[in-house]
Amino acid sequence: MVANIKKLFSYDRYPKGRNPRRLEVEIKCVNCKTTQMTYNKSGNGPIDKIFFDSMLDNINLKKNKELVCVGCEKKLGVRFVWGPDKKSAFRMYPGSIYYMVIK
Ligand SMILES: [Zn+2]
Repeated sequence: MVANIKKLFSYDRYPKGRNPRRLEVEIKCVNCKTTQMTYNKSGNGPIDKIFFDSMLDNINLKKNKELVCVGCEKKLGVRFVWGPDKKSAFRMYPGSIYYMVIK
């Protein structure tokens, strides 16, 4: 019985009591420091993917195949589909952006 429970939990990506930390951040271009959007970030790591579901403004960017800086027109990332749920996201080029926590 105990073994069965463990097996169930191993398939759960967000077990109870381990809610990922969510932060509201501003995503900025490394090159020119222009703010690209406000984003609802989960977890503590760097941002390597920007999920469309978690974009809080500038949602018109979702229609683009690439994320291009609104300030300097540098390419920051490319649109792709992630995971079994087929979530739309931008895959960010390493070192192209940084973020500042708003709250
Ligand atoms: Zn820029």
